Amino acid sequence: MPATPLHTVGAWAFLRLSGARGSLVAAFLASMTVDLEVPFYALYGLGGSDFDPYRARGILHSLLGVFTLNALVVWALWRHLMPAFWRWATRRWPEERWYRFAGADLRKEAPEGRAFYLSAVAGGLSHLVLDLPSHSYNPVLWPHTADPLALVPFSEDPLWDVAYMLLVFALFLWMLRRHWGGWARGGVAA
Ligand SMILES: [Zn+2]
Repeated sequence: MPATPLHTVGAWAFLRLSGARGSLVAAFLASMTVDLEVPFYALYGLGGSDFDPYRARGILHSLLGVFTLNALVVWALWRHLMPAFWRWATRRWPEERWYRFAGADLRKEAPEGRAFYLSAVAGGLSHLVLDLPSHSYNPVLWPHTADPLALVPFSEDPLWDVAYMLLVFALFLWMLRRHWGGWARGGVAA
């Protein structure tokens, strides 16, 4: 299963493929918030008494959740957490290049409502897609979970799990190398 921060590479790809000039921050956040439910499953023993990270997934890992609850969570984070986060980060790392991605300053994004929502949906969908090959339990049609979309028969084979994670990690590094100003000396990433 790709580690949560690695999911941002899927969000970036989805946003690029859609050709949309939406909000990267919304898409990045949405691609990670989908996993917020996993610790809740662990804490409250949802989905059975034995905690199994491969099965500890519900509404946020579903289409229904991506279009509703996940987008709402992203909006709440954007509204209430991100301004404070940017202020804190800017105090620590004032150089602008740390905030540049694909040629724009992420702190200055001001998407209108529709673009924001669609970006959050794109980020959430990308999470579901990236999860498909590495889980046998994908409650995409939650609450209908009778057929949890086990696409790849060997999805939980440890070797495959590691290989898939490394592949996503390589794409993640490639994305940062190419587009992140913090990596490009002088902040010329475009
Ligand atoms: Zn996930």
